[in-house]
Formats: sequence, C-alpha cells, structure tokens
Amino acid sequence: MTDRAEEEPAIDIRRLWFSYNGQVVLKDVSLQVARGEFMAMIGPNGGGKTTLLKIMLGLLEPDRGEARVLGLPPKKAAPRIGYVPQDVHINKEFPITALDVVLMGRLWKKKGWGRYSKEDRFKAHQALDQVQMGAFCSRRIGELSGGQRQRVLIARAMVSSPEVLILDEPISSIDTRGQAEFYDLLKALNESVTIVMVSHDMMALHQHVESVACVNRDVHYHGAAEITDEMLDMYECPVEIVAHGVPHRVLKSHK
Ligand code: ADP
Repeated sequence: MTDRAEEEPAIDIRRLWFSYNGQVVLKDVSLQVARGEFMAMIGPNGGGKTTLLKIMLGLLEPDRGEARVLGLPPKKAAPRIGYVPQDVHINKEFPITALDVVLMGRLWKKKGWGRYSKEDRFKAHQALDQVQMGAFCSRRIGELSGGQRQRVLIARAMVSSPEVLILDEPISSIDTRGQAEFYDLLKALNESVTIVMVSHDMMALHQHVESVACVNRDVHYHGAAEITDEMLDMYECPVEIVAHGVPHRVLKSHK
C-alpha cells in the first residue's frame, strides 16, 4: 500500500492566519511547494518571512488554517527538515571546530547523551565534503569566513539527510564571487532535497530558483514561467525590498 503522505507536496499551507499578541502578521496565506522544488521567499523586512519559516519548522502554531510538511504536521516532520539560520556572529575564540558544529546536526538521531558514534562522525565528514569544506574540519568555526561558516551550517543541516532544506537569508554574509559558487552548491543539493530559502538578492535568484513567494502579510506565488528577465524589468513589489543595501522594486504590484 502506498503511503499517502509520500505523495503530498513538500510544503502545503492552506488559509493560514498567524498573529503575535493580536497583531496579524500572516493573513489567509496559502502556499504549496512541490517536492524537489527550489523556492525563494522575498519581501520587505517585517513582512512575515521568518514567521512563516517558523511555522514550517513547527516552532509556531497558526491561529487558523493548516500547515503540513511532507504530508505531516510540521512538528512531526521536523526530523526530516534541515534548517540553516541567518549567519550568527561567532566569538573568534569559541573553541569549537567545523566538525563539532556539523556533529550537532546528528543530535536528532542520538538516543540520550553520550559520545557520537562512528557513523555520526562518518556522516559529518561526508556532509562537510558535500559542501567542499572537508579540508576545514578541524578549523575553529570563528576562524572561517562568512561564506565558509555558512557552508558548515549547511553541512550541519544536511548531515541528517533531510528531505526539505530551509535557509534564512543565507547569502547576506557572502561576497559577490562567493555567491555564484554558493548557488552552484545549492543547485547540487537540490538534486536530493527540496529547498525553501529567504533571500533579498532577486537579481541572482532569478537565475537559480524555480519559484518565488512574495511575503508581505499575504503571500503571492510566482512559478517558473514568471521568473524571467522581463519580469524583473516590468514587475514591482507592493513594498520596496532592500537588495545590495539599496531599496528597489522587483515585482509587479499584487492586486
Ligand atoms: P521578516 O522575516 O519578513 O522580516 P518577521 O516574520 O520576522 O518578518 O516579522 C513579522 C512581523 O512580526 C514584524 O512586524 C515583527 O516585528 C513581528 N514579530 C516578529 N517576531 C515577533 C515576536 N516574537 N513577538 C511579537 N512580534 C513579532
């Protein structure tokens, strides 16, 4: 018998409302992300992107409506989701290596406390190799560049072989040259994992992602056919978004 959950979209959000202390942040939001898709979420600061990610991760409960991930309530799907937070500034002296950081991603799999197993270590090295950071496994995390640190955080998210990878503004700490390599990496990962990524860098995004969700209290989904150079010229967002430190308009006003 086929498991119906296996046939459902990676992310399925229907008529969802969310508020903080009575203040509505997400209003009647519906969004479907297919398995294997590479979707970016854009929108103004305070538009609700992080809140939506937290709902997908099962960290926040909606007031109304439904969110399902891999056909399950997000909390149940959590072990099958990899999460890469925004770059956190780390104390340079913090005595923890890249390998230690990736091993933390194995905590889900561990039963109780105790040493990491051989398999944990094998998988952690494998994940570091996957993001081309194998040579840096013994390097202190504080000694790495922003881009390298971000790759280590991706390895930490990938080490438990997730089916969905969620990234919150991953490219903000990466220089322009590093960004192209970073997208190549995400593209390679996308062969085995659905990707949902918050990003402000629309110009770079449109070459790499398959779909874009505009989040500003409500959500507007743009499929692959809509993400073209033409769209970038013609379309405007209802509220300006900040890219490269400069506010500019990228998507058509939503009616
Ligand atoms: P974005 O990620 O798009 O910048 P957020 O989801 O972080 O947006 O925030 C959406 C709105 O919710 C903002 O107005 C923000 O101030 C508010 N908000 C976020 N987190 C909290 C919280 N823990 N308590 C109250 N309000 C919050």
